[in-house]
Amino acid sequence: MPAVLDDVSAEILDLKKRIGATILAHYYQDGEIQALADVTGDSLKLAREATKVDSPVIVFCGVLFMAETAKMLNPKKRVLLPDLQAGCSLVDACPADKLAREQERLRANGRQFQTVCYINSSAKVKALSDWVVTSGNAEDVVRNRVPAGQEILFVPDKHLGAYLRDLTGRDMILWDGSCMVHEIFSVTDLLKMKREHPRAVTIAHPECPRNILEHADFAGGTEAMRKHVGTYREPTTFLVATEANMMWDLQRLHPQHTYLGVPGVSCACNKCPHMARNTLEKVRDCMRDGRPEILWQPEFDKAKEVLTRSLLNPPVAVTPVAEDHPHGD
Ligand code: SF4
Repeated sequence: MPAVLDDVSAEILDLKKRIGATILAHYYQDGEIQALADVTGDSLKLAREATKVDSPVIVFCGVLFMAETAKMLNPKKRVLLPDLQAGCSLVDACPADKLAREQERLRANGRQFQTVCYINSSAKVKALSDWVVTSGNAEDVVRNRVPAGQEILFVPDKHLGAYLRDLTGRDMILWDGSCMVHEIFSVTDLLKMKREHPRAVTIAHPECPRNILEHADFAGGTEAMRKHVGTYREPTTFLVATEANMMWDLQRLHPQHTYLGVPGVSCACNKCPHMARNTLEKVRDCMRDGRPEILWQPEFDKAKEVLTRSLLNPPVAVTPVAEDHPHGD
């Protein structure tokens, strides 16, 4: 929380009390929004935290699929999203009707498979899937929950899918989708930075393509990155290949380190334009006006079943992996 609040932040805290709201914010939100949140987290943490909220209103500072997930897991709560247009390039890459046609084609060809969808997908795609994963539980689901002998149709992130295929050795059919932020990190700039900072530690999100991951000292989702950085006591330089706002949280948690963002080939800011649609003013306005609100959609019933068994049920025994094995979160 900032020592001196600006007017908009003060209004938000006042509204929070008046309407009975809990603010959940993703690590990819601007620092000024994260600073006001009751809980910050990645998709998995926020989905789980959303089920523990006891206030009548959830203000979800993230993108649409995340707010929909919070609503599905909390049908009785009002879920507000500051900007309903906050989408995701991965969601756009996998329309439900196209997925249904591909599933039908595979079945007609006699393929035995289960569909595993990354949480960055529409509710209709979740409803067509056997499992929903985040980078935090994906390895467990792929290794342990999809029955042996079944192929995996993994949608929509081809880079996360390839990373999981390499990690687990499972047969996977990959959908051709990618995150517009993690897709464009420049390997040329990363190698230049590594030459300039030879002792630096490179951390990368598994949504990055393989040409970035193969130069990373650690690959993992946002929660795993936070934990990994926390294992370094001495001041260390980290080269960070994920959405740039993540560095705000790392700086807050571990200020003794230096964080340098790996630039993208076409955009050096590495900020997600969808996440950036949410501003402090829009957070205030949605709380004041009670909208935009996520309303229950027919596909939420089936999607909720898949989400609940995938994310909320206790995990089955996990095949042990080496201590220093990179894993997503
Ligand atoms: S950072 Fe990528 S995956 Fe995350 S919301 Fe933005 S476009 Fe989607």
